[in-house]
Amino acid sequence: MPACAGMTSKNRHWMPACAGMTSKGKHMQFISTRNNAPAASLSAAIAAGLAPDGGLYVPEKLPAPRELHAGASLAATATQLLQPFFAGDALEGGLPAICAAAFDFPASLEPLATPRDHVLELFHGPTAAFKDFGARFLAQCMSRIRGNADKPLTILVATSGDTGAAVAAAFHRVPNLRVVVLYPDGRVSPRQAHQLGCFGDNVTALRVAGSFDDCQALVKRALNDAELHGQAPLSSANSISLGRLLPQMSYYAHAALAHQARTGDKLNFVVPSGNLGNALAAILARTLGVPLGEIVLATNANKVLADYFAGSDYTPSASVATLANAMDVGAPSNFERLRWLYQGDDAALRGAFVSRSVDDATIREVIARRFAQHGEIFCPHTATAVKVLEDLRAQGKDGDWAVAATAHPAKFESVVEPLIGRRIEVPLALNELLQRPAFAEPIAASYDALTWHIVDFG
Ligand SMILES: *Cc1c(COP(=O)(O)O)cnc(C)c1O
Repeated sequence: MPACAGMTSKNRHWMPACAGMTSKGKHMQFISTRNNAPAASLSAAIAAGLAPDGGLYVPEKLPAPRELHAGASLAATATQLLQPFFAGDALEGGLPAICAAAFDFPASLEPLATPRDHVLELFHGPTAAFKDFGARFLAQCMSRIRGNADKPLTILVATSGDTGAAVAAAFHRVPNLRVVVLYPDGRVSPRQAHQLGCFGDNVTALRVAGSFDDCQALVKRALNDAELHGQAPLSSANSISLGRLLPQMSYYAHAALAHQARTGDKLNFVVPSGNLGNALAAILARTLGVPLGEIVLATNANKVLADYFAGSDYTPSASVATLANAMDVGAPSNFERLRWLYQGDDAALRGAFVSRSVDDATIREVIARRFAQHGEIFCPHTATAVKVLEDLRAQGKDGDWAVAATAHPAKFESVVEPLIGRRIEVPLALNELLQRPAFAEPIAASYDALTWHIVDFG
């Protein structure tokens, strides 16, 4: 790519050539939810993560609903659906290959024992959680955006468990990229720690003597450190990235199209939600013409969404720890995008969605009872959605529904196994990771310790 006039070293985040230039023509452009940043191409928006004004990138205009065809593979469905967002971007030509590489495992819709209830199994990827889809798509995009620049792009991730593993797995051995994952030593499960440390090669795992908040603060500081960027180009891979959000529409589309072709009916969803990336993808897919009915948000004891949709002001707060820990979010980052979608009209937004909170005691009860009654095994996150669906049914809700199963229960064996009284078989892909040796470098929760590992990479 040619260098652009107007790029200055003031760009704090690494961007590809021409980032921030508004192009004419029918390129899809992306703007910030805070309206105080230049429009960016898709590549620039993906490379940057967060918009320079602190907002989240959204499409300048949503593509018109389009005719989508059932019967295509998941990768082909993804290509159809995502094409308008890639129009005119440097990544456009690579989209089919990106989708083929990212969506190489299934998202299967299975019936539950209760009539007209289903589960969309999003946990058949390498780390057995739905984040594999978005992370693998992002890795493919980032690798192509980076091209053969002289230095690899370093992806920095602070993780309390799931995200880091999905990102490490997705970026492992992808050319032009490396990953540095930070996690709070002793505060992730042994299985999670193993997953973070088992890659090696271009993935460095750092176990930090501190909390998750310490890890996050270190990453934030590094991402804002212009001098460090000069030595090692940096980016992030957190759930606000468009490169993770957009591809998540694909499995909803694939499942809903197949369901409609088979039954003539729309599929309604309950989505276990934390930062709202997964649910927002379902909502976006619906605006693009995917035959989805209602989309209901299930949360754990972190009630900020449930309270908002019940009529309270939106009041982000500190998160509380629950059994569904990947949803322990007190300030859902994608809420800003949801408000943008409803043009800030809180009444309209509240009218469009239901959100319910499920506490730990109920999560335990649901896991134990569904296994005892039906032999079904759910992870704690999925169990929140199962409970919300049960309540909707009890109130007379009809139609065909699915819960998004966001993780395999074997990832949360220490919670689930005692409740069901038996061992859970570990999926093959996850088992393969757990068989590898693992290593994580211990570091102090200090900035110098982190930068040493970023710059010193051979
Ligand atoms: C991340 C995660 C969630 C929450 O998804 P969001 O997109 O943050 O709402 C739910 N379940 C599991 C297992 C997760 O890893």
